[in-house]
Amino acid sequence: MKPETSLIRQKIDFRNADPIASPIFQTSAFRTGDPYFYSRKSNPNFVEVEELLAALDVGSRAVLFSSGMAAISAVLHLLRPGDKIIVNELIYGCSYRFISDYCTQFGIQVVFCDLSDPLQVENAVDNCTAMIFFETPTNPFLKSIDIKCIVEKLRSARGGGIVVVDNTWATSLFQRPLLHGADVVLYSNSKFFSGHSDIITGTAVTRNTELATRLESHRFYAGSQPDPFAAWLLRRSLQTLAVRMNRHVETTSKVAQYLREHSRVEKVYLPRVDGVQLTSYGGLLFVRFGFQDLESVASFVDNLSLFDRGTAMASVSSAVARPYFGSHLSMSPEEKARVGLDESLVRLSLGLEDADDLIEDLGRAIAFAVARERLAAAE
Ligand code: PLP
Repeated sequence: MKPETSLIRQKIDFRNADPIASPIFQTSAFRTGDPYFYSRKSNPNFVEVEELLAALDVGSRAVLFSSGMAAISAVLHLLRPGDKIIVNELIYGCSYRFISDYCTQFGIQVVFCDLSDPLQVENAVDNCTAMIFFETPTNPFLKSIDIKCIVEKLRSARGGGIVVVDNTWATSLFQRPLLHGADVVLYSNSKFFSGHSDIITGTAVTRNTELATRLESHRFYAGSQPDPFAAWLLRRSLQTLAVRMNRHVETTSKVAQYLREHSRVEKVYLPRVDGVQLTSYGGLLFVRFGFQDLESVASFVDNLSLFDRGTAMASVSSAVARPYFGSHLSMSPEEKARVGLDESLVRLSLGLEDADDLIEDLGRAIAFAVARERLAAAE
């Protein structure tokens, strides 16, 4: 065999290898007869994560996507022109913008309302409602929405319909929406599931075989599958999910207590852990300070040294952001005002650093902001 040929064709038979860590199937295609066929359709690295995530949510099938937004896009493709979708008004800014624009473009009626208010649910849900879509706890403000109640309302109004829950913040360790009757659970795996701010992928989980087949088919034809390496990294990160989440819970509880007792803190937003729908919670909280002006809020953010600034969150490292300018940038000022989101709200994503170090850093940054405020008042 000439070098030109052996360089291409020579391989060892690795079928007898038995690695401890799963290999990365960094291949676009599989040989004829292999059930995987083509990595746009599926890949062993996807299936490994899908089986794990389906089991965690007590679902029957999970479909892995290139991002959380790709999973949302696949779910929206389940709708037809003339359908109606009800969306909770407190929702990730890109989800708000995408659902709103997509539905307007394709003749789907979209109604935004507060699904934590039974009266608004009563008024919004009718027999044209094909889908109800919400996060619980919500981003921002971490309000809880009663999944069972929403499912019952839709079933009694229509007899069918699809309830979709974005469970990114609770994760399937602390909340399992399918057990409360939801039809599809969505995740941005780019958050706690990956946990290291290094990959972007998303997942949809369901118990409904027909929906799973439609979502998988959408991924195949739209080409919204992840890269095998991202799926492999995700699988590796999931090995530490339980340990990380428990640590997030502990740190969040300590930091929340510190903030609540601080004289310059007006309100700390955390979800209600009822032990039935939501069994535990940690990682992300929102806070409003009693500062006189927005410059003091900016000063607090700028003077934190253990919190990354930017879009990172739900990661091993702590982060700070002002949702008005970041996660909800896609919404207009009027849309943000309607849901009560203003420039003063601060989001803290508490990582795995020592809680006392984080508290000390927060205290120092608050003291800086207070000093700045006093200086400004004296001038
Ligand atoms: N859902 C929630 C709750 C999110 O916060 C995000 C992103 O921040 C998404 C979905 C979108 O996920 P991705 O960034 O993986 O596309």
